[in-house]
Amino acid sequence: MKAAVYTSHGNTSVIEIQEVEIGRPKSNEVKIAVKAFALNRLDVWTRMGMPSLKLEFPHVGASDFAGEIIELGANVQNYSIGDRVAVNPTISCGFCLHCRSGEISLCDDIHLMGEHVWGGAAEYAIVPSTNLLLLPDDVAFVEAAAVALTALTSYRMIRNRAQIKPGELVLVTGSGGGVGTISVQIAIELGGRVIALTSNKDKESNARELGAEHVINYRENPEWGKEVWEYSGRTGVDIVIDSSGEKVFPQAIRALAKGGRYVTCGATTGTKGEVNLALLFWKQLSILGSTMSSHAEFEEVMDLFFQGRIAPVIDSVYTFDKVTEAHKRLEDPEHMGKIVIDMEL
Ligand SMILES: [Zn+2]
Repeated sequence: MKAAVYTSHGNTSVIEIQEVEIGRPKSNEVKIAVKAFALNRLDVWTRMGMPSLKLEFPHVGASDFAGEIIELGANVQNYSIGDRVAVNPTISCGFCLHCRSGEISLCDDIHLMGEHVWGGAAEYAIVPSTNLLLLPDDVAFVEAAAVALTALTSYRMIRNRAQIKPGELVLVTGSGGGVGTISVQIAIELGGRVIALTSNKDKESNARELGAEHVINYRENPEWGKEVWEYSGRTGVDIVIDSSGEKVFPQAIRALAKGGRYVTCGATTGTKGEVNLALLFWKQLSILGSTMSSHAEFEEVMDLFFQGRIAPVIDSVYTFDKVTEAHKRLEDPEHMGKIVIDMEL
């Protein structure tokens, strides 16, 4: 099959479209003809390489994809050839304590499709049947691929980790990014009010269109934490949803109300964060990590998407032969929302 592979770790020059062998699905797996895949910040980390990541090359990236089943493993019973499906990229062992309690994103032997094992940046992908979700006929593959990973990540952060309550004030940092654009919508859908923190005029108006009641441009206002504080009536925000990390962390913590929760799923600007412990105990703050989601959370948030209550913001759609350009766009900080490759174009 044709696949967009990384031939080594590095910048976008290591991406090549090559012929690679994919094989046949095992008894509990299916083979999918990929119709669309989307890029995430994770694809940049995987391509560039991380000390903990040991990959064999060529590697097929992309954790977000959707397609049509073309072959069933011997024991797969709940799906048929021709079914249209989205994919939960978290592959878990199924046996450890975390898996047995349904918390697959805490699995002792977790593998993410696209990161640790081959993902969907190819004509075909092999996926465990437990990771599939049937798509309604009216849902486009491009939209399904664009929404899955960011939505499941955001939903776990807001619902499970922050445990949002109706009327709570939520600060979404990087509100023009993949996680940001969907987090604004999910926070509002779950009863929250949103302050969006972003970097340019287009992203400001987009955040307002998505329902944010207040928008702050951090380039124009580097002391944005003070504006958050004033806007909240000098009480602070209940929740911060963040994937930027180091650069926003000090102001984000100071912007929290008593009982406030800071939730992170990434650290694109750096991983260091210093906390005033007096502030932490006196205001009874929580600093929470989150990664991926359970399969139940994936199903719940995809249901919101199927009902039209949330939708991916799509920056651009590329043909498969332009996959390198798609990666370059992903690394351009001006992009807004999701970058998708449509295999049917
Ligand atoms: Zn496990």
